[in-house]
Amino acid sequence: MNSLLAPVSPLLTLLQQNSEVIALIFLAITIVEIGLDFWLRKNRQYAETAANIGIGIVHDLLLSPFSSIVAFIGLAIVATISPLHIPINLGTTIVAVAIADFLYYWNHRAEHRIRFFWGYHSVHHSSTDYNLTVALRLAWVEDFILWIFYIPMVLVGFHPLHALIALQIVGIYQIWIHNQKIGRLGFLDRILNTASTHRVHHGANPIYIDKNYGGILMLWDHLFGTYQAETEKVIYGLTEPINTTNPIKINLIEYIRIGRDWQRSVTSKERFLSLFGPPEWKPSAVSKQLPHQP
Ligand SMILES: [Zn+2]
Ligand SMILES: [Zn+2]
Repeated sequence: MNSLLAPVSPLLTLLQQNSEVIALIFLAITIVEIGLDFWLRKNRQYAETAANIGIGIVHDLLLSPFSSIVAFIGLAIVATISPLHIPINLGTTIVAVAIADFLYYWNHRAEHRIRFFWGYHSVHHSSTDYNLTVALRLAWVEDFILWIFYIPMVLVGFHPLHALIALQIVGIYQIWIHNQKIGRLGFLDRILNTASTHRVHHGANPIYIDKNYGGILMLWDHLFGTYQAETEKVIYGLTEPINTTNPIKINLIEYIRIGRDWQRSVTSKERFLSLFGPPEWKPSAVSKQLPHQP
């Protein structure tokens, strides 16, 4: 394992040092946001905030060490079949982040359009309130699965950890975007994933559904026809509300719904679609067609 990590050890040290600083900055701005909402008597949903923090503690502190190992081993196994090796330096790291950002777009789009992946990603979208703590609301199974979308990076020669660190940089960039305090930022909203751009992504309004998948750059949304500017007040949450702030139920609810649709399916095609069809798909036995959730 040590010889596998040797090429990326300077990057790892840098990231470890910086991730502690980033965690402290996130904690500080989150405390300021909660304090401001309390002071200004904003209509903040504190039960949702508590759920986000509870989910985040389990995700980041309990499960993250295990999911990181699973992701690393999975990508390391794939790396053994690639004859290509890209060196690690500043230039290739910038390229790695750009490629990870491109793959993140498709990873995120798949999470919205394929129900198996929506099963976990819907956790991030089910909060009816929107603030910095939503960044913590990530499904407990998510990091055990999503590394598979980054297999192409390893196949073209990126070291598995170089790919995972690039993905982590795409994730770290996003810690500031879940808030209603920062308004529209003009041309920046067209180029980057900003607070305004990402509010749109979390909207249940019909014009906002399945829009703005980008992690850092909005370039991919412009290229593939999913960009939407913030033009009307955002309604947060799912179109089919979950009506719970229990972290365990929040994590399970969409998979329970998938299981129900699997049971109601009458053909093997329907069973396949209940797992891999779009989230709005319903088996023929269900007469009521529900609208797609964002
Ligand atoms: Zn999403
Ligand atoms: Zn988000």
